[in-house]
Amino acid sequence: MGRPKTVNDSFFRFRQVMRHFSPELRKEKALIAGSMVALLSSVVLRILEPWPLKLVLDQALHWNNPKKTDFLERFSSLEPSTLLGLTALSLVVIVALRATSDYYKTIAFALIGNRVMTRIRGRLYRHLQALSLSFHDKARSGDLLVRMIGDIKLMRDVAVSALLPLLGSTLVLVGMVSVMFLLNWQLALLSMLVVPLFWLSTIKLGRRIHSAARKQRQREGAMAVTASEAIASVKVIQALSLESHFDKSFSSENKRSLSEGVKTRRLAARLERTTDILTAVAMAGVLWYGAVLAIKGELEATSLLLFATYLKRGFRPIQNFAKYSGRIAKATAAGERIVELLEETPDVQDAPDAQEAPTFQGKLQFSEIRFGYEPGRPVYENLSFTIEPGRFVALVGDSGAGKSTLLSLLLRLYDSQQGTILVDDQDIRRWTLSSLRGQISVVLQDTILFAGDVYENIALGATDVTQAQIIEAAKLANAHHFIESLPQGYQTILGERAVNLSHGQRQRIAIARAAVRNAPLLLLDEPTVGLDEKNEREVRLGLRNLAAGRTTLLVTHDLRQAAVADEVLYLENGRICESGSHQSLIDQAGRYADLYFSQTGERKPTLR
Ligand code: ATP
Repeated sequence: MGRPKTVNDSFFRFRQVMRHFSPELRKEKALIAGSMVALLSSVVLRILEPWPLKLVLDQALHWNNPKKTDFLERFSSLEPSTLLGLTALSLVVIVALRATSDYYKTIAFALIGNRVMTRIRGRLYRHLQALSLSFHDKARSGDLLVRMIGDIKLMRDVAVSALLPLLGSTLVLVGMVSVMFLLNWQLALLSMLVVPLFWLSTIKLGRRIHSAARKQRQREGAMAVTASEAIASVKVIQALSLESHFDKSFSSENKRSLSEGVKTRRLAARLERTTDILTAVAMAGVLWYGAVLAIKGELEATSLLLFATYLKRGFRPIQNFAKYSGRIAKATAAGERIVELLEETPDVQDAPDAQEAPTFQGKLQFSEIRFGYEPGRPVYENLSFTIEPGRFVALVGDSGAGKSTLLSLLLRLYDSQQGTILVDDQDIRRWTLSSLRGQISVVLQDTILFAGDVYENIALGATDVTQAQIIEAAKLANAHHFIESLPQGYQTILGERAVNLSHGQRQRIAIARAAVRNAPLLLLDEPTVGLDEKNEREVRLGLRNLAAGRTTLLVTHDLRQAAVADEVLYLENGRICESGSHQSLIDQAGRYADLYFSQTGERKPTLR
C-alpha cells in the first residue's frame, strides 16, 4: 500500500482496510442496520432539540413579532404557563428519546467493533498458521504478535470510540447544515466559507500526522521484536553479560516511539485548535451578519439564536474530525499492517484440484529435485533416489549437506523449484496437505510438551484415540514405565509450567505420539542427539519398535545408528555420493567408511 497523503487519504485508506474486512462486517448486517436506525433517530432528535427554546422565546416571552405564516403561530393561543409546561416537557421527552437512541447506538457500535475485530483476529491467526515456512523463516515473531494483538486492539478501539461516532456526527452535520439552509440560506452560506480553510489545514497537517502515526506503529513493532528476542534468549544474555547491549537497543526504540507519539499528538492538537479558531470565525461572521439582518427586521432574533445553536452543534463533527484524525491515522497504519499480513499468500498450498490421499504403501521417489531456500543458492541441483516401502533408510553426511531439507520437502513445508516427489508413484502435490501430512509421523531433535496431561500430549493431533491405544503406544515407545512412575501417572499435567521431563523422556513421548498416529511414513531428525548412553539406548529401542513396517527416513550424525539401517544415503553438498547397505559402504572404503571408523574407533580392515 502506498503512503496516504492527507487525512482524507487516511479515511480512504481506512475504508480500503475495512473493505478487506467486509466478510466479517457482513455477518453483523442486522446489528449494523439496528445501529443505523438508532443513529438516525438520534440525529433527528438532536435537530429537534433547540426548537423548544425558540418556542418559549417566541410565544411565551414574545421576543419576536412572529409572521402570520410562522407555524409556531398556532401555539400563540395557548396560555403562557401551559406553553411553558409543554415546551419543558417536550424538551425532556426529546432529550430522553435521544439519550435512549444514543445508548443503543453506543452498545451496538461496541458490539459490532468487538465482534468484527475478534473474527478478524481469528482469521489472522489461522492465516499465520497457514503461511509457509519460507514466510516464517523471515518474519519476526515479536512483530507478528504486535500485529495480531496490538494492531487489532488499536483498530477495534478506534473503530468503536472514534470512527463509528464520527459517522454519526457526519450525519448530524448534514442534517444541521440542511436545516441551517432552510432557516436562512445567506447565513448558512456565510458559515460554510470556513470549510475550505478547514480542508486546507487538514491537508497540511494530515500528511504529517499520518506519517508520524505510521512510524510510531513501526517502532512499536520493532520494540516488540527486540523485547521478545531478549526474553527468549535471557539465559544467553545473562550468561554473556549482554544486558546493557539489549537494553540500549530497546531503549532507543522506546524513545523513538515516544517522540513519534508526542509528535502525532502535537500535530493533532494543532489541527484541533485550528478548527476551534475556524469555528469561532464562522460564529463571529454569523453573529455579525445575523445581527445586521435582525436590525433591518429581515431576521427574527430567535431565528438567529436557533441558527447559532445549530452552527455550534453542527460544527462539532468537524472538530471531532480533527480530534480523531491522529487516532484514525494510527488505526489506519495498524489496519495496513494487518492487511499486509492477510495479503501474504502461502507458497505451499493445496492445488485447486487436490484430493484426499489414499492410505500410502510407503514407496518414496525423489525425481530430479532442484531446490534452494534463497535464489541463486541451490541446496540440490538434480537429486534423485527411490526408497521401497517399509525400508529403514539413514541419511548421513556433513552438516549443511541437505539431509533435513529432504524431510521438509517430503512434508511439503517447502515445495521444490523443479522435479517431483512421489509417494506410491503419485506426485505429492496431487494430495491435500492435510491428508499428506496426516500420513507422516515426525520425531525431531527437540520435543515440545503442551499444557495438558500425558494422555493429551501423546494423543496430540490424532483423532479418535482411546486410552488403551495411548498406553499401547507408550509401551511401544518404551515410555510406559516412566509415565507410570509420574505423580499422577498418565494424568500428570505436563507443559511449560508443570512437571518437566528429561530430554530422553520427552523424546519417548514424541515416539509415542508418532506411534499413535500410526502413519505409514516416519521421519526422524536426529532424535537421539544430546542423550546420555542409557537414555539413548531406551529411545533407540522405542524408535526401532516404531519403525517396524513403516518407510522410515532417519537423519543422523551417529553412524552407529546408520549401521542398523537397511540402507544408507551419504549426502555431500546436496548430492548423494554413496548409497547402499552399511556393509557395502564399509566394503567400498569411501567417505562413509572413513567417517564410521573415525567415529566408532573400530580399526579399518587392512588390505592383505
Ligand atoms: P545439519 O546436519 O547441520 O542439520 P543438514 O544436512 O540437515 O545439516 P539442511 O538443514 O538440510 O542440512 O540445510 C541444507 C542447506 O540449506 C544449508 O546450507 C543450510 O544453511 C541451508 N538452510 C537450511 N535451512 C534454511 C532456511 N530455513 N533458510 C535458508 N537456508 C537454509
